[in-house]
Amino acid sequence: MLLAEHVSKSYGALTVLRDINLRLERSQVLSLVGPSGSGKSTFLRCINSLETIEGGMIWVNGSLVGYKQVGDSYHELTERELATQRATCGMVFQSYNLFPHMTALENIIEAPVHVRKVPRKQAIEEARGLLAAVGLSAKADFYPRQLSGGQQQRVAIARALAMKPELMLFDEPTSALDPQLVGEVLDVMRKLADAGTTMVVVTHELEFAREISDFVAFMDGGVIVEYGAPSQVLVDPLDGRTRAFITRQK
Ligand code: ADP
Ligand code: MG
Repeated sequence: MLLAEHVSKSYGALTVLRDINLRLERSQVLSLVGPSGSGKSTFLRCINSLETIEGGMIWVNGSLVGYKQVGDSYHELTERELATQRATCGMVFQSYNLFPHMTALENIIEAPVHVRKVPRKQAIEEARGLLAAVGLSAKADFYPRQLSGGQQQRVAIARALAMKPELMLFDEPTSALDPQLVGEVLDVMRKLADAGTTMVVVTHELEFAREISDFVAFMDGGVIVEYGAPSQVLVDPLDGRTRAFITRQK
């Protein structure tokens, strides 16, 4: 479902990703952990072609990110084609970026109706199902400002799922939330993982990462310092940097 090979990325003279190699099969969950500035968000943005990479290749669901195959050769995608490819991934960010002038339901049906061209009636039906799945059936007609941060983030998850992505990318979806609202968002993510959603999760919630992940990658300075099972990386790390990080988080 996800294959990253020798991925590197710089901003000018600053190298933010160096030789990143990762592989994730369908229904698996990968957590990316590491200090601020280690390149976690950048890597997610590269998976979703919101950033271009200078070296290496990323494959999502068998497609090379940013390219299409024509015969034996690969051609760069146009902006329009990139948008279509991007829809393979659903992304949820730290800050709930719902459209403020639309209700929860309208937020969820926006992309299915306008991008996937799903008939409005069917999109509404699906959206109601998704709202129920994130525990917000009663909030369909509420505007973002009428919802708590945790509720907004759950709508954002439902909105991403409405595009039926192959892969869900989460970038610290709970770090902007008041502590008492974190649990309800993690619960929704746990349910998704249990239901077999393929997910890459950037999080500082290490206990949560340990619970839901098949693999954990610890990043520092743009490299994957340590990679493996959560019971190893988060409990008994081999590398001193990983150990220092998880000790600090406790
Ligand atoms: P993390 O998500 O792990 O905190 P980021 O991927 O956001 O890390 O950032 C990695 C590094 O890249 C940081 O040093 C950051 O300052 C730098 N960076 C991120 N985005 C940009 C950008 N658009 N232009 C220049 N530098 C950037
Ligand atoms: Mg980040």
